[in-house]
Amino acid sequence: MMRHVLLALSMRPAIGRWMERVPATRRLVRRFVAGASAEDALVVLEGLNARGLMGAVTYLGENVATPADAERATQTYLHLLDEIKRRNLNVLPSLKLTHLGLDLGQQVCVANLSAVLERARATGTRVWVDMESSVYTDRTLALYARLRPLNSHLGCVVQAYLRRTPTDLERLIDVGATVRLCKGAYREPPAIAYPDKRDVDRAYRRLIDRLLAPDALARGVYTGFATHDDRMLAHVRDRVRERRLAGGRFEIQMLYGIRPELPTRLTGDGLPVRVLVSFGEDWYGYFMRRLAERPANVLFFFKNLARS
Ligand SMILES: Cc1cc2nc3c(=O)[nH]c(=O)nc-3n(C[C@H](O)[C@H](O)[C@H](O)COP(=O)(O)OP(=O)(O)OC[C@H]3O[C@@H](n4cnc5c(N)ncnc54)[C@H](O)[C@@H]3O)c2cc1C
Repeated sequence: MMRHVLLALSMRPAIGRWMERVPATRRLVRRFVAGASAEDALVVLEGLNARGLMGAVTYLGENVATPADAERATQTYLHLLDEIKRRNLNVLPSLKLTHLGLDLGQQVCVANLSAVLERARATGTRVWVDMESSVYTDRTLALYARLRPLNSHLGCVVQAYLRRTPTDLERLIDVGATVRLCKGAYREPPAIAYPDKRDVDRAYRRLIDRLLAPDALARGVYTGFATHDDRMLAHVRDRVRERRLAGGRFEIQMLYGIRPELPTRLTGDGLPVRVLVSFGEDWYGYFMRRLAERPANVLFFFKNLARS
């Protein structure tokens, strides 16, 4: 119930503008968002690399309304790629297609994503394309298939909560894709996504098994298991151990600020871990999705609000 309310509120940016004026919100936002500028994120990413963790970076923003906004997002990713190269960081961009102009038409988005992929190829960096709400699933997968030849390490995302995902995944396995498996963070109708968390968890486990199956690995599939859930992580470990998988076939991915002690513990156990760091002024939708994932965050927010 709480999750649905928060996800519905995440579509109301006016609330974000009000929240911006509340110091308690700013403090909580800082837990999940590195700061307003690319430099804020790069400093955090340097620190993560120094601790043996790989990084990913997202410039926050989605559903831009003008080509100029999409262009600004594209230029920011080009700048990030240059800085990643200059600072010799083990970091890749993870971006949203609606930030690069998908709502403005395929042409705008293809031109912007192509520019990012060209620069990524020149700087030897992999790029991951996030998955947004189900309104965009077909278009995102179609663009992924179209542009992957520009950067064979282009990654895409599948969401375990979507009923369609097993079918989509078979197509991605056929081409030996680089895939992030996440549970899914948007508000979706029950006809499209499992409403019960237990079904989502069951689906996630089945998809782990599929992504680490011998035929998927033989085709070159590489997976980022994006989760903070101990039970999902244990399932990955079990399969890796059973199948005696060497490194280079998968990684664990987590979001900056969520269970911050966990990435170091997992690298200590020999698992490759990447932490995704977000930055930017447009934090509202991202922040509300993080609140929706854990009611305790809402409690923390209101306690701070009362205190301030
Ligand atoms: C690297 C990365 C990339 C992602 N990319 C996408 C994407 O492209 N598209 C998409 O739809 N979703 C994406 N997500 C979000 C994902 O779909 C989930 O919403 C999110 O990861 C929470 O699911 P979980 O697997 O951690 O499991 P959950 O069952 O939600 O959480 C497991 C445990 O993790 C901790 N936890 C989880 N979330 C929080 C939080 N917000 N605050 C504090 N503790 C928390 C709690 O201890 C919780 O018990 C991404 C997640 C990660 C880690």
